[in-house]
Amino acid sequence: MENNFFDKIQDAVIFAGREVKEAAGDLSERAKLRYEIRTREGYLNELYMELGKKYYMEHKDDEREEEGGLNSFTEVKNLLEELDDLRAELANKKGARHCPRCGVQVSQDSDYCGKCGAFMHEE
Ligand SMILES: [Zn+2]
Repeated sequence: MENNFFDKIQDAVIFAGREVKEAAGDLSERAKLRYEIRTREGYLNELYMELGKKYYMEHKDDEREEEGGLNSFTEVKNLLEELDDLRAELANKKGARHCPRCGVQVSQDSDYCGKCGAFMHEE
Protein backbone atom coordinates (compact mmCIF):
# COMPACT_ATOMS: atom_id res chain seq x y z
CA MET A 1 0.00 0.00 0.00
CA GLU A 2 2.61 2.51 1.07
CA ASN A 3 5.04 1.47 -1.60
CA ASN A 4 2.37 1.74 -4.17
CA PHE A 5 1.58 5.25 -3.01
CA PHE A 6 5.19 6.39 -3.29
CA ASP A 7 5.57 4.65 -6.62
CA LYS A 8 2.66 6.65 -7.89
CA ILE A 9 4.17 9.88 -6.61
CA GLN A 10 7.49 9.00 -8.18
CA ASP A 11 5.78 8.23 -11.46
CA ALA A 12 3.91 11.51 -11.24
CA VAL A 13 7.10 13.45 -10.54
CA ILE A 14 8.91 11.78 -13.42
CA PHE A 15 5.96 12.42 -15.69
CA ALA A 16 5.71 16.04 -14.59
CA GLY A 17 9.43 16.47 -15.09
CA ARG A 18 9.16 15.10 -18.59
CA GLU A 19 6.29 17.46 -19.35
CA VAL A 20 8.20 20.45 -18.04
CA LYS A 21 11.22 19.46 -20.09
CA GLU A 22 9.14 19.11 -23.22
CA ALA A 23 7.43 22.41 -22.57
CA ALA A 24 10.79 24.07 -22.08
CA GLY A 25 12.05 22.52 -25.29
CA ASP A 26 9.01 23.82 -27.06
CA LEU A 27 9.51 27.23 -25.49
CA SER A 28 13.14 27.53 -26.47
CA GLU A 29 12.19 26.40 -29.95
CA ARG A 30 9.65 29.20 -30.12
CA ALA A 31 12.08 31.67 -28.58
CA LYS A 32 14.60 30.68 -31.21
CA LEU A 33 12.05 31.19 -33.95
CA ARG A 34 11.02 34.53 -32.49
CA TYR A 35 14.67 35.55 -32.47
CA GLU A 36 15.09 34.41 -36.08
CA ILE A 37 12.01 36.41 -37.06
CA ARG A 38 13.07 39.50 -35.11
CA THR A 39 16.55 39.42 -36.64
CA ARG A 40 15.11 39.32 -40.13
CA GLU A 41 12.54 41.98 -39.35
CA GLY A 42 15.28 44.26 -38.08
CA TYR A 43 17.37 43.66 -41.17
CA LEU A 44 14.32 44.19 -43.36
CA ASN A 45 13.58 47.51 -41.67
CA GLU A 46 17.17 48.60 -42.23
CA LEU A 47 16.85 47.74 -45.90
CA TYR A 48 13.54 49.56 -46.14
CA MET A 49 15.18 52.57 -44.53
CA GLU A 50 18.13 52.47 -46.94
CA LEU A 51 15.76 52.14 -49.89
CA GLY A 52 13.53 54.93 -48.64
CA LYS A 53 16.49 57.25 -48.11
CA LYS A 54 17.89 56.45 -51.53
CA TYR A 55 14.49 56.98 -53.11
CA TYR A 56 14.06 60.27 -51.29
CA MET A 57 17.47 61.53 -52.39
CA GLU A 58 16.75 60.60 -56.00
CA HIS A 59 13.27 62.07 -56.10
CA LYS A 60 13.25 64.95 -53.65
CA ASP A 61 13.48 67.53 -56.41
CA ASP A 62 10.92 65.88 -58.68
CA GLU A 63 7.87 67.83 -59.68
CA ARG A 64 4.91 66.37 -57.89
CA GLU A 65 1.43 67.42 -57.14
CA GLU A 66 0.57 68.26 -53.60
CA GLU A 67 -2.57 66.33 -52.91
CA GLY A 68 -3.68 68.47 -50.02
CA GLY A 69 -2.12 67.86 -46.63
CA LEU A 70 1.40 66.67 -46.16
CA ASN A 71 2.91 63.95 -48.25
CA SER A 72 5.90 61.98 -47.04
CA PHE A 73 8.32 64.01 -49.08
CA THR A 74 7.12 67.22 -47.48
CA GLU A 75 7.32 65.66 -44.05
CA VAL A 76 10.88 64.47 -44.65
CA LYS A 77 11.85 67.90 -45.97
CA ASN A 78 10.32 69.60 -42.96
CA LEU A 79 12.06 67.23 -40.59
CA LEU A 80 15.41 67.79 -42.29
CA GLU A 81 14.95 71.54 -41.97
CA GLU A 82 13.97 71.22 -38.33
CA LEU A 83 17.06 69.10 -37.75
CA ASP A 84 19.23 71.69 -39.46
CA ASP A 85 17.77 74.40 -37.25
CA LEU A 86 18.18 72.31 -34.10
CA ARG A 87 21.77 71.40 -34.96
CA ALA A 88 22.58 75.01 -35.70
CA GLU A 89 20.96 76.04 -32.43
CA LEU A 90 22.99 73.45 -30.58
CA ALA A 91 26.20 74.55 -32.28
CA ASN A 92 25.49 78.14 -31.35
CA LYS A 93 24.57 77.43 -27.75
CA LYS A 94 28.15 76.97 -26.84
CA GLY A 95 29.49 80.49 -26.53
CA ALA A 96 26.51 82.04 -28.27
CA ARG A 97 26.92 85.76 -28.81
CA HIS A 98 24.33 88.43 -29.14
CA CYS A 99 24.63 91.75 -30.84
CA PRO A 100 25.17 94.51 -28.23
CA ARG A 101 23.05 96.90 -30.26
CA CYS A 102 20.03 94.89 -31.52
CA GLY A 103 20.31 91.71 -29.48
CA VAL A 104 20.09 89.29 -32.39
CA GLN A 105 22.18 86.11 -32.13
CA VAL A 106 25.39 86.30 -34.09
CA SER A 107 27.44 83.30 -35.13
CA GLN A 108 30.81 82.95 -33.48
CA ASP A 109 32.89 83.50 -36.59
CA SER A 110 31.20 86.78 -37.51
CA ASP A 111 32.89 90.09 -36.66
CA TYR A 112 29.76 92.09 -37.43
CA CYS A 113 26.08 91.65 -36.64
CA GLY A 114 24.23 90.22 -39.63
CA LYS A 115 21.17 92.32 -38.89
CA CYS A 116 22.35 95.77 -37.94
CA GLY A 117 26.02 95.58 -38.80
CA ALA A 118 27.31 96.46 -35.34
CA PHE A 119 30.89 95.46 -34.65
CA MET A 120 31.06 92.35 -32.48
CA HIS A 121 33.86 93.07 -30.03
CA GLU A 122 35.06 90.32 -27.77
CA GLU A 123 33.62 90.42 -24.31
ZN1 LIG B 1 22.77 93.91 -34.35
